[in-house]
Amino acid sequence: MSRVLLAIFLILFTTPRAFTLSSEEFAKPPRLVVVLVIDQFRSDYLTRFEKKFLPAGTAKNPGGFRFLMKESAYFPFAEYDSFQNMTCPGHATIATGSRPVHFGFSTNAWYDDQTQKTSDCTEDSVYGQSPHFLRTTTFGDELRLISPLSKVFSVALKARAAIMLGGHRANLALWLKDGQITTSDFYQKGKVPDWVTRLNEELKKQTNTSEADLVGSVRDTQLTFRMATKILETERLGRGADPDVLLISLSSHDLLGHARGPNHRDMMDLTLAEDKALAQFLKFLTKHMDGLSGVTIAVTGDHGIPPAEEELRSTGPAAGDLDMNSILAQANRKLDEKFGAPGKSPWILAAEGFHIHLNHPLMHAKKISPADVENEIRQVLLRSEGVADVFTRSDAEARRFPPGFLGEQVKNSYVADKDGDVLIIPRPFISAKGPHVVNHITGYSYDRSVPLLIFGPHIKPGVYSGAKVIDLAPTLSFMLRTIPPATCEGKVRQEIFK
Ligand SMILES: [Zn+2]
Repeated sequence: MSRVLLAIFLILFTTPRAFTLSSEEFAKPPRLVVVLVIDQFRSDYLTRFEKKFLPAGTAKNPGGFRFLMKESAYFPFAEYDSFQNMTCPGHATIATGSRPVHFGFSTNAWYDDQTQKTSDCTEDSVYGQSPHFLRTTTFGDELRLISPLSKVFSVALKARAAIMLGGHRANLALWLKDGQITTSDFYQKGKVPDWVTRLNEELKKQTNTSEADLVGSVRDTQLTFRMATKILETERLGRGADPDVLLISLSSHDLLGHARGPNHRDMMDLTLAEDKALAQFLKFLTKHMDGLSGVTIAVTGDHGIPPAEEELRSTGPAAGDLDMNSILAQANRKLDEKFGAPGKSPWILAAEGFHIHLNHPLMHAKKISPADVENEIRQVLLRSEGVADVFTRSDAEARRFPPGFLGEQVKNSYVADKDGDVLIIPRPFISAKGPHVVNHITGYSYDRSVPLLIFGPHIKPGVYSGAKVIDLAPTLSFMLRTIPPATCEGKVRQEIFK
């Protein structure tokens, strides 16, 4: 054979096939899918601290993050493409593979024009808390629809994390309230398993279990993993004939990040403690499942975080908070001048984060077009240094979006029945005053970049690029041989299969 022919032969028959799950492999779904979300886990937590993590270990004796970074399809810089990145929409994106505009809310909480109060994303008038506002299915819901014996459980410190991961059909979602593990009547009529009651007794005896005390401590992480292992044991997850799903979210990472910013030494210490806790959990999982060959594990974050303001002050672009009180006062004054004094209630009813809600009954009574009012506010806002652009309800109705990626993000995120009449698009590193020292409420890269790792029997380990977080749910659905969640827009990452 000539060398040319030999070269052609080698290229044809030795180049890896692009997508090569055999039908037999496809026919064997994982017995257990574990999704681990770390709240506020920006991409660089893995890249920065890699050398300090435990050794990778082996499948029989796994380490923590490094084991998964080595043995998974690892997308170091996966992305959200929403305008606002925070816990509730982040977890909903992970579980549904879709975007706020389709799953129903873009923020953790919003001003409700009807009740004139702030509504939380998990609020439910019947059950107290539930995924009531989630207008679509999760990948776990789809599994339970076709495989009723499959079980889906979720655990987190934060209710919104556990509830959005659990979706509409979770057997149980557990979270922490006032230092006690709890659920809502939406799940099993609020009844918790005996092990939760026993663990709660134990927690009662401990001091300093409030959310504030858990900031910066690894106790929450350990408690969340303890809940996860209890569920694995008592529910025998992964040991039945049908695949099961366990969803875990570690909340204390976010609590600490808000208080110190991503580059504080405490954040490194906590991440290293999480690495150890993860290694322990993986070791438990290996024992529980007799090895990891039937287990798929995904790790990601629900959003990132900007640097602390003082880190940017000397060299970076302008950073800080928009002074919303003064902006709103200016806007109300301008509206008074232009349209006359409003009477009892002001032109602007509320501002929730970057969302400004107008007084619709007043505009209606005075026969003033909302678009005119929006435009007056737009002019006031655009005078502020920290404002990059302004988007209004009239813009949404006319399908007019800001240029570039910000426009795409707003298109993906604007939920007309919950979001403001006027939406402020801040410049990078500009935030809205809130209870936190550092806050993540934008679509800029520091808030939208998270790692995504997918480990599993047919996965080709390696470093990949280009994934969006919405790709995780359909990829898991594919492995579980179910249709993707109803409003899923993500893509199956077929390049990761062996
Ligand atoms: Zn947060």
